[in-house]
Amino acid sequence: MLKNIKTYNPLSDYNKVIKKLNNNGVRPTKQRMVLAKLLFEKGKRHVSAEDLYIEVRKEDRRISLATVYNTLKQFTKLGIIREVVVDQNKSLYCNDYKSHYHLYIEDEGKVVDIPTENINLDLPSFPACLNLHNVDVIVRVRTLKDIIKKTN
Ligand SMILES: [Zn+2]
Repeated sequence: MLKNIKTYNPLSDYNKVIKKLNNNGVRPTKQRMVLAKLLFEKGKRHVSAEDLYIEVRKEDRRISLATVYNTLKQFTKLGIIREVVVDQNKSLYCNDYKSHYHLYIEDEGKVVDIPTENINLDLPSFPACLNLHNVDVIVRVRTLKDIIKKTN
């Protein structure tokens, strides 16, 4: 019986987003709340603005593609999600803000997380006036599809 009782979980990713918006003086509008829900309720993932927009439309929500883009940029700036720029024209948004790197499978357009401990970085030392803020690593790979095609 107790299973059916839904309790408010202040630690859920969605509620953390709403709190972060409030803490930064950004009003959690209906549109921002819908997008936050879509971004975080499906577990860890990497999604493009276009794919998120398709999900919005499936839910019959009236949010424009421009609003989806703007909200994703804003969430990125606030540290809610991470932008993974896979090439000049394409970004995927990662909803896991914990430190990790990315593996990009170019011909499939897919991004997979790599734990930071799997890659050893030998960073140079910085002048004392600089503080390390963030390290982004994207390892680019391709499947063997093309090579197999050429040899046949
Ligand atoms: Zn990621």
